[in-house]
This record gives sequence, C-alpha cells and structure tokens, in this order.
Amino acid sequence: MTSLKPVRGTQDILPAESRLFRRVEETAFEVAERYGFGEITTPIFEFTEVFSRTLGDTSDIVTKEMYTFEDKGGDQITLRPEGTAGVARAFISNGLQQDLPLKLFYRGPMFRYERPQKGRRRQFRQVGVEILGVATPQADIETISIAQTFLEELGLKNNITLELNSLGDSASRNAYRDELVKYLSGHQDKLSKDSLERLTRNPLRILDSKDESDQAIVVNAPRLQDSLNDASQSFFEDLCEGLYKLGIAFEHNTNLVRGLDYYCHTAFEFTTTDLGAQGTVLAGGRYDGLVGQMGGSETPGIGWAAGVERLTLLLDDGVEAKRPIVVIPVGGEAESEALVVTEMLRKKGYRVDLGYSGNLKKRMKRANQLNAAAAILLGEDELTRNVGTLRDMDSGEQKEVSLETLEDHLAPYK
Ligand code: ATP
Ligand code: MG
Repeated sequence: MTSLKPVRGTQDILPAESRLFRRVEETAFEVAERYGFGEITTPIFEFTEVFSRTLGDTSDIVTKEMYTFEDKGGDQITLRPEGTAGVARAFISNGLQQDLPLKLFYRGPMFRYERPQKGRRRQFRQVGVEILGVATPQADIETISIAQTFLEELGLKNNITLELNSLGDSASRNAYRDELVKYLSGHQDKLSKDSLERLTRNPLRILDSKDESDQAIVVNAPRLQDSLNDASQSFFEDLCEGLYKLGIAFEHNTNLVRGLDYYCHTAFEFTTTDLGAQGTVLAGGRYDGLVGQMGGSETPGIGWAAGVERLTLLLDDGVEAKRPIVVIPVGGEAESEALVVTEMLRKKGYRVDLGYSGNLKKRMKRANQLNAAAAILLGEDELTRNVGTLRDMDSGEQKEVSLETLEDHLAPYK
C-alpha cells in the first residue's frame, strides 16, 4: 500500500538520528544566544504572496519548488520554503522597527518540491540567523563569524571552505547587469534554455549556471568585481579586513551570486567536498532591499541559513544516548513497588526505565538492549526488608542496598 510509505522526499527521523539533529540545532541555538541573538518562531505557512513577491518570480523556489494550495477559506497559502521572508514579514507585522538593530535566530522545517537525493529533501530543516537594521560591514562580519563558530563547534572545521563575494550596491549591480547582458547577448546561440530565459529576467544567475556550455561562456564574461563603485569596493575591503582580523579564512569566488534584486554587497557560502553535488551547507547574504520591497520601511538586513540534514550527514560520530538505570521487579508483588521506586528516581532526575514484563532473564536482556548502566532488582522478600539489589551492568558486581539510602549509591549513574 503506497500510502504507508512516507511521501517522496520526506523522512521519519528515528531516535538515534534525532539525537544528531538535536545536536546540530542545540549547538546553533547555544551559539546564537552567546552571540546575542534571540529566537523567533514564525508559522510554517504564510500567504503565498509573502514568498512570491519577495523571492522573485524567476527564482527556482518560486517557479518550481513551492508547496502552494488554496485553503478552505479560499486563501492562497504556501508552506514556507525558507525562513527570511517570514522573518521579514514578522518584523513588519509586529512593528519591530523601534527595536532595531535586531538579531534573530530561527530553526524549523522548510518545504521545497525538488528532486530528492542525498542532502536534498522536500521537507528539510534549517537553522538560520538574521541581523536587521545594520547597514555597515560590522553586521556582515558578525554574521559570518557566528556561522564559522557554529560549524567549528560541531567539529566541522576541516573540509569546509568559506566562499565570499560582493555584489556591490544597486548602482554597481545595475551597471554590471547591463554589461553582462551585452556580453551574453553575443553568445545567445550557445546558452542553455534556462539561461536564455534568465538573460532578460535575471541575468546574474547565469554566472551560477551548472550547465557546461554556459560555464564556458561565463569564464570570459566581464567580472562583477570590476564594476564595483568606490563605496561598494570599500565596503567589501572592510569586510575582508574584519574577517582577516578574526582569523576567518575565505576564498573570493567572483561567480558567487544571489540573483534577486534585493540582494546586495555580501554573498557567501560554506561549502564542503564531502557531500557530492549537495556541497553547500550554509549560505547567506545581505538583503538591504527586502523589507522595503515587502512594504515596510527601508531596513538593511543580512543573514544565513544552514541545512540541518546536510550537517548531520557530516557528523560521523553518533551521539550516544545517556545510559539509563533499569528497575527490575522480581515477582508479581514487587511490580507496584518497582513503579514507586522508578517514579521517585525519575523525579530526582535519573533516567530510569522499567522492565514491563517477562521473567528475570528476559528483563535483564532488555536492560542490556537499553544499554543500561545499572539495574535495581527488587525481589518480594527483599522488599519486606526494604532493600534491593544494585547491579553494575558493566562489571556485573552486585550489592544489597537499602531503599532508604538508594540514592547514595546511584551517583555514578546519574
Ligand atoms: P542548493 O543550491 O543546494 O539548492 P539553495 O541555494 O537552494 O541550495 P538556500 O536557499 O540558500 O539553498 O538554503 C540554505 C541551505 O539550506 C542550503 O545551503 C542547504 O544546506 C539547505 N537546503 C536547501 N535546500 C535543501 C533541501 N531541499 N534539502 C536539504 N537541505 C536544503
Ligand atoms: Mg535549491
């Protein structure tokens, strides 16, 4: 029955893998707090306009990837494909202009209809940060340094490269756009179909094309960095200098672009060669025009988002679950008393599991399966003396302990 399979591109995340996901998200959350970011949670669906008007109608997300539907009230709704548009919408809806500058962190599921493969899902999770209200490169430096610290704390320093580029301000970008279109128009016969479409609507994206014949043309295209005006140039120099001071290494990738109109100045990606084609683990940029374009007052912004699945794929060491203590009643009478002891220990902060059924041997086997650190065996005659047997599951050593002072013996297992 096909309906018992998860929908293509979605997955069940079972306990062992969930621990990896939590490690990524909790590390991100902890680092974000350390850097002074507060958490924001926006709805996982929004009016379609929130995305279609901001992400640009030529972007892959809007043209191919959105999960959009009409709800029972007739509203056009979209499951969020990314986090920034919702955060910008929330910034405007909640009238947060008074609180600038704002540093926000988010985490949660995103939805994109795309071809599923390793590291590419239709429902996936992101963690991300945004800084709103800071027009100077200080915010760009902080945004990149928090990303770097986050990846470092996950143990992912090696095999990850920071690629960085500047798109310049809008004057620089418009000048460049004209020059690029002029050049590419001379090579129309060799451009891919996608790129031909982009030529009029979104030419900068052609620089990013994965098509080989496009790439051969792009190699000789005029370079964006040569069109940067003085203000844009010095913005980028300040950013590079700031990163240098913090010891953050990067590669200047002059073809790294974000195609949408509201992007400017900084664009960056942290990439790895360890995930095949899905090599970008974290990507971000400056979007000074976004809030204005959505109808709010002009507010500069910069941020990034990281794919949690891709990061978990890079974490090779599993996160061990904490080892429980298992309480094992021996004999029917002991069952209810075992539950009392179990609850008491849980309330005191111990991780305790209780064997549900079966003979002693079966319950011991179950304790081993749970990787228990210790077992507390409660026999009926022992209970009349208010004692139990504490067994260290690694050494196999057993000793009789008073239930009154049980906790004194459990410190090594907390
Ligand atoms: P790609 O070029 O891989 O499609 P993108 O430019 O669409 O990436 P962004 O919108 O910048 O990606 O999203 C930021 C990060 O979110 C990506 O770098 C990636 O780690 C992750 N990501 C994006 N789409 C997916 C997906 N479908 N499944 C899993 N992770 C994803
Ligand atoms: Mg994509």
